[in-house]
Amino acid sequence: MELKDIQQKISTLSEAERERVYTQILRIVSEYDYDFTEIELGNKKGDGCSCPHCASKKTRKNGVIKGVQRFICNDCKKNFRPNTGSATSKLKKKELFKAYIPQLLAGHSIRKCAKETGVCIQTAFDWRHKILSAFNKQQSETRLSGICESDDIYFTFSNKGEKNLTRTPRKRGKGIFESKKRGISTDKIAVIISSDRKGNKHLQAIKRGRVTAYEIESVLKDKLEPQTILCTDAHRSYTAFAKQNKIEHHTIKASAKEYKRGVYHVQHVNSIASDLKLWIKDFKGVSSKYLQNYLNWYAVNDIIEKAANPVRNAAVMISLSSVAWEQFKNIGNLQYLL
Ligand SMILES: [Zn+2]
Repeated sequence: MELKDIQQKISTLSEAERERVYTQILRIVSEYDYDFTEIELGNKKGDGCSCPHCASKKTRKNGVIKGVQRFICNDCKKNFRPNTGSATSKLKKKELFKAYIPQLLAGHSIRKCAKETGVCIQTAFDWRHKILSAFNKQQSETRLSGICESDDIYFTFSNKGEKNLTRTPRKRGKGIFESKKRGISTDKIAVIISSDRKGNKHLQAIKRGRVTAYEIESVLKDKLEPQTILCTDAHRSYTAFAKQNKIEHHTIKASAKEYKRGVYHVQHVNSIASDLKLWIKDFKGVSSKYLQNYLNWYAVNDIIEKAANPVRNAAVMISLSSVAWEQFKNIGNLQYLL
C-alpha cells in the first residue's frame, strides 16, 4: 500500500475512527522509540553495578569515552562498558540491531529478517543466536513455586550443518521431537520442562540419553522455592530427587490411565511439551547446538507477548545478559552435546 492510498483511506474515516488510528500510530511509534544504549546504561545503575568479568560489585564509573560511560572494577581492575559481554558487545550496527528485534519477535525466517533489516544472512543468523543466548538470563533467574510440574522429553540429536543456512532440510523420520516411550539412546537429547501454576516456565537441555536423579537435582534444586509441591510421572529419578530433598511429591501413572488426582496432575507440562513440539517444527530442523537457544526463546515468548511494550521489553531482556556474547561464541561446546 502506498502512502497516498493510506491518506485516501484516512480521509474517508469518521472523526472517531481517525482518533483511533491516531492513537494506534502513537502506540506503534512509542514502541520503537527507545534508545538501546540508554537501556544498557540504565541496567548498570552506576557505581556498584556487577562486573561482567568477575561479577564483583566493587565497581565505579571511570570516565566517558566517545560518549559511552566506562566503569572500572576494583577487584579485577578491568574496565568495562554498559554492554560489555552482552549481545550488542563489539557490534558496529546497533541501529540495525534495534530494527532487527521486531523482525525476530515476529518469527520471520532468517532470510526475511536479513532482507527487512538490511543485513546479510550470516549477520541475521548470528544476531538471532546472540539474542536467544541473552534470553538464557531470564531462564536462569526463573524460580518455581506452589505446585510445580516437571517432565523430561527427548529430541533426536542433529548436527545439521548450518553453513548453508537456506538449504531445505531433509525429511527424516518424525522430526527432532520424539516420544520418550520409544527407548532412549545417546541419539536423543533430554530436556527437562518445568512449570508452575503461575505460568513460570523453565526449559533446560540436559544431556544425551536418559536423565538420572543427579541431573534432575542439578536442574531443579535451585529452581524450586521452599514448600514447592512437585508433580511428575512415575519416573523413579524424580521420586529419588524429591525424597532426597524432602520435597512433597505426587506421581501420576499415565501407564495406568491415571491423569489427575485432585489438583495434582502433569497436564500443564504435557501441553507445554506438545505446544513446543509444534512451535519448534516451524524452524525446520534445529541443529542440537542451537536447541537450548530455542528453548530460551520459547520460555520468554509469553512474557514478551504479554508486556505492554513487547519490543522494548525484549530489548531490556536482551541487554540484561552480560554473558550472551560468550555463550554465543561457545555454543558448539555446550555440556549437553558431549
Ligand atoms: Zn571484575
